[in-house]
Amino acid sequence: MTLYTRVNQETCISCGACGEIAPDVFAYDEDGLSYSLLDQNDGAVEVPEGLVEEVEEAHEECPTESIRVAEQPFAEQVEKTKAG
Ligand code: SF4
Repeated sequence: MTLYTRVNQETCISCGACGEIAPDVFAYDEDGLSYSLLDQNDGAVEVPEGLVEEVEEAHEECPTESIRVAEQPFAEQVEKTKAG
């Protein structure tokens, strides 16, 4: 299954659950807010197959529903210019 993910930092409450469930995907910025390590939270890079289950679990366990998942890249982020 193709899956993309990104965190809605406007609603993240820094509870730490996603980083425990999927440490290879979610980390925390200097404000303690979660973001996707896959592509700096753009939601444009496909979740590697071996991590899909963890991401889905984090999505289900997030108390504020801040972890967004989709079967297609998050469009509003795709157009963003990337350096390098
Ligand atoms: S589980 Fe949700 S609220 Fe908790 S740190 Fe992760 S994104 Fe934020």
